[in-house]
Amino acid sequence: MEERDLTITASIGIALSPEDGSDFDDLVKRADGAMYRAKQGGRNSFCFHTQEIQETSERILLLENGLRHALDRSQMQLHYQPQVSLRDGSLIGAEALLRWHHPELGWISPAEFIPIAERSGQIGAIGEWVIRTAVRQMRTWLDEGMDPIVVAVNVSAVQFRHRDLPDLVSRILEESDIEPQWLELELTESVASEDPVGASAITKELRARGVRISIDDFGTGYSSLAYLKRFKVYKLKIDQSFVSNVTSDTDDQAIVKAIIHLATSLGMSTIAEGVETPAQMEYLRAEGCDEMQGYFFSRPLPVAHFEAFVKTERARFARHVGHLAESDCADFDPGIESGSMESQG
Ligand code: C2E
Ligand code: MG
Ligand code: MG
Repeated sequence: MEERDLTITASIGIALSPEDGSDFDDLVKRADGAMYRAKQGGRNSFCFHTQEIQETSERILLLENGLRHALDRSQMQLHYQPQVSLRDGSLIGAEALLRWHHPELGWISPAEFIPIAERSGQIGAIGEWVIRTAVRQMRTWLDEGMDPIVVAVNVSAVQFRHRDLPDLVSRILEESDIEPQWLELELTESVASEDPVGASAITKELRARGVRISIDDFGTGYSSLAYLKRFKVYKLKIDQSFVSNVTSDTDDQAIVKAIIHLATSLGMSTIAEGVETPAQMEYLRAEGCDEMQGYFFSRPLPVAHFEAFVKTERARFARHVGHLAESDCADFDPGIESGSMESQG
């Protein structure tokens, strides 16, 4: 170590007396919140305590504490967003999306509470619950006579660091007697950049057991393309930020085409996320995208609505997509809209 230079940086949080607090404990607590913000801002900097930082830290604390009981108190549920083939309009799968109803704060977005669960170490239990609930749901649907569909579950990069993930997934599939090819795990690109060697071993193991791997929000992270091959990725999910202006923005068009081309060349399939209009759908289909999900087809739905949707909307939409190539689709009404997190009271 003697010959090495070590560079140390500091993140500093500052609280002032008497404005920010009158006793030592209060001041340290507030300086701590400010330090946390300094770290979030890229480290090696300082940050003064503000009212806004305090409110954010209090909310994080409230959510972190609430998350400890969220599962035992049955405050979590999964909603399912249909995924449809762009070739013939058939329903091919659903993405399971987690919903949490906090007793005081109401519905909280997973975009807000998942990062908190990751930092506080609660993501393991929550993630396991999500996989088990989705797989049990698949069993119930099969027992009720529904045609099998692939259910995609989001997996956090933190869950992916646990070497026993493949065993856990296999155990859960066995408990419900579900074949592995019906389960898809959605990973984000950060999985690949944080621990490429570990992640590659885990994905290989999962693929060997027959579980599909897709890359969520593809194109928004930073990672090498080599991992697509190494991870034996099955599907790329084109992020909704590229889809939203795909009919007008030439840069987004170039990105979408490049992703589809890349996927096709490497033998992967593509699904577009956040498809909201018939024009977006038509563009994606013409470019050779395989599947889509989005509000145009359906919002994420609670189980009962999803089941109703499968029975009634599926056939109607398949007919519609079948006719799309020849006709104008602007008058299509995507039907059931209820069941989104916002509409859950
Ligand atoms: P994601 O996996 O990329 O999911 C897509 C998000 O886009 C979902 O938000 C979905 O409700 C929303 N969405 C779907 N169609 C449309 C559309 O047409 N337009 C627009 N504007 N949005 C659309 P949601 O449910 O709030 O989830 C946010 C993120 O939280 C997810 O992004 C995922 O990263 C994470 N997440 C959700 N459930 C879980 C989970 O069970 N485990 C983990 N680790 N993360 C989860
Ligand atoms: Mg996802
Ligand atoms: Mg996504």
